[in-house]
Amino acid sequence: MPPAPNDDLASLSELTDSSLLYEMQKRFGNDQIYTYIGHILLLVNPNKELPIYSTLVSQLYLSSSGRLCSSLPPHIFSSAERAYHMMLQERRPQCFILSGESGSGKTEACKHIVKHLAARSCTKSFPLESKMIQVSSILEAFGHARTETNDNSSRFIKLLSLQYCEKKRTIIRARVNTYVLEKSRLTFTPHNQHNFNVFYLMAEGLSPEEKSAMYLNNVLAHRYLCDSAPGEPAAVATASARSRDRLTALKQALRALGFNNLEVENLFVILSAVLHLGDLRFTSLTDTEAALVSDLQLLDQVSGMLQVCSEDLGSALTSDVQYFKGDVITRRHTVEVSDHYKDLLAKSIYSRLFSFLVNSINCFLQGQEEGTGDPALEIGILDIFGFEELQKNGFEQLCINMTSERIHQYTMEVLFQQEQEECLHEGVAMETLHSPGNQCAVLDFFFQKPQGLLSVLDEESQALRPAEQNFYKKLQAHLEATGANGGVNGVSLSTKDGNGNPPPKDQGPSFTVSHYASKMTYDLAGSLERNKDALPQNLLCVMKSSENVVIHQAFQAKLTQTGSLVPPQHRLKLRGPKAALLLQKMTSSTSATAREPKKGLDISKLLKKKGTTSFLQRLERRGPVTVGVQLRNSLSEIISKLQGCTPHFVQCVKPNNAKKPDTFDSFHVSTQLHYVGVLEMVRMIRYGYPVRLPFSSFLVRYKDLADTILGEKRKLTTEEKCRHVLQQCKLHGVQMGRSKVFLRYWQADHLSDRCHQL
Ligand code: ATP
Ligand code: MG
Repeated sequence: MPPAPNDDLASLSELTDSSLLYEMQKRFGNDQIYTYIGHILLLVNPNKELPIYSTLVSQLYLSSSGRLCSSLPPHIFSSAERAYHMMLQERRPQCFILSGESGSGKTEACKHIVKHLAARSCTKSFPLESKMIQVSSILEAFGHARTETNDNSSRFIKLLSLQYCEKKRTIIRARVNTYVLEKSRLTFTPHNQHNFNVFYLMAEGLSPEEKSAMYLNNVLAHRYLCDSAPGEPAAVATASARSRDRLTALKQALRALGFNNLEVENLFVILSAVLHLGDLRFTSLTDTEAALVSDLQLLDQVSGMLQVCSEDLGSALTSDVQYFKGDVITRRHTVEVSDHYKDLLAKSIYSRLFSFLVNSINCFLQGQEEGTGDPALEIGILDIFGFEELQKNGFEQLCINMTSERIHQYTMEVLFQQEQEECLHEGVAMETLHSPGNQCAVLDFFFQKPQGLLSVLDEESQALRPAEQNFYKKLQAHLEATGANGGVNGVSLSTKDGNGNPPPKDQGPSFTVSHYASKMTYDLAGSLERNKDALPQNLLCVMKSSENVVIHQAFQAKLTQTGSLVPPQHRLKLRGPKAALLLQKMTSSTSATAREPKKGLDISKLLKKKGTTSFLQRLERRGPVTVGVQLRNSLSEIISKLQGCTPHFVQCVKPNNAKKPDTFDSFHVSTQLHYVGVLEMVRMIRYGYPVRLPFSSFLVRYKDLADTILGEKRKLTTEEKCRHVLQQCKLHGVQMGRSKVFLRYWQADHLSDRCHQL
């Protein structure tokens, strides 16, 4: 009854760490990269092309109609089939949760799921597969980057939803939600890594004429790019040929979205402006600390490209407008602060451009069918950035790893805790299973309000005089209050280095977290700055005044706290006619361009108008607050979406750290299997009852079988009907709870197969 032993680790006769590892290594050696653990799919990244994703193979799995007991080997297409059939049977949204460390193959797996689902149920009017190739080209150019662990690493979280038409069971539209783009990469690229892919495509792929029109003589010499790791010399020639092809593909994809040639060019002009903005320097006059832009020609160039008034941009970068008891006070910045705002503006332009593109992608994926589709018929695919450990880890790695931690915790809750609690509640006997470590304390320490790390960081960021030392003090106080410091709850903060001395000035205290994956030490120096994300109001006003249609739209739209754009009309409707009028005034009064700089936007006059100060103050307060808040909100949005779906887990494993094919590093794989809790999962699936169906759902799911077996026995209660069907099918070991039938996973497959055979 259970599937062939080697295809499913839950059917192995001997269950130990080494037997699992041996089995996986053997399979990997035969290019069998997929293995089941019951319904969980385990994938070992082959790091080489395998001929297993053709349309022909997809067709083979289509004909299996979602039966895992079929003679076909484990495959991601099979899991996609199963999700599709479960969606129809359960009439409930399904969601794939792809986990694994950076470089383990999550994003590629996501594409394979889409490929199969598109082959199963797409029509000519909505060619999902070809659309998704274009979408991936854009998202990977703007949101992926080369890191130490992966040449094409996702630097944002993506949730793709495919929506089905109830009647025809075809995909009628899709939607991409993106969260927490790692925008700090734009202005600070970690050692040995790259900035976002798109800049290298521009460096290699733009023609000399295009480059000179954008003042890009040497793309890689711009400050934001020159810190990046150089490519390996041998690979440079092939890499540049590949970049040229990818840039051509990117331009085609943008045109497919509906941009014309000029508009595509405009996007590259904005990217160039961002690079030039990064080169802007500030200086101060000797008798004052106030900053001035050093190179006015460069400022003019940037302003021209962004189509804003050069003087306004210069003054918004070097001074601030503050509100005090209804008065507006202008304060000059220091060189350091101006430099910080310049980087903040660059990040803001880049991330809003990304959100603008995601909005355009969603229009492209909207399809032509009218109506909203059936909310129950939806398949989601969640692709997060994987756990990563660099040579030096800072605030960004902490955010990435806490995301991974939260999703891992959710998986463990679903697989272990909820399962066991339900058995108890239903009075079903189940072997007590050891579940892998609970990371609640670590998660609480990070996310909890109001004392968690993110809250403390926010509190200090908003202080009148933010100071990193105060942040550490508060953190330490919280750690001591919860008894966590010293690693009791998996977190510790040490303000001394290994020799008992304070850390160097540019380094923060060492902050150690025992993650599920490994113990990691972070340097939190600079976290206060990196956490800040809201642009000052005067810079925002300058950008809103842009005559560049993309910049104008991207800044006019409200950025939600999770980083997506709400179109302006929607926002204006929310705020009423007064707000609409005001915003209109703010933008229409600024027809000046950088070449005619005089007629600037005098924000202080606007602010002095009766009633407008409080409105703008409110507007400012409502903006996207900090990176930490966005992360927390994004994760709670994602988790609540997952809670409404039936989950399908795909656990990706990296066979070695050198991105090599045919190399199985047993130690590295064993570490991953261990921290993911694969052995526990296998035990859980083998001795547990992963399929639990309320009596009525059981009769609906296996309706054809139940109708055939029950015949005229209509007077039985639902419980009696279930019992009767199970007896007739001679399924041994099934448990009946108070309100549900508890099935081993292969028993559920057996019943599905019997239904299909009718
Ligand atoms: P990150 O968390 O950094 O985004 P990831 O888990 O999404 O990492 P991918 O980008 O999907 O990792 O995979 C890394 C690389 O591994 C791919 O660029 C590709 O070269 C290779 N790879 C992944 N999956 C497969 C596969 N199924 N077949 C062949 N090669 C693969
Ligand atoms: Mg990825």
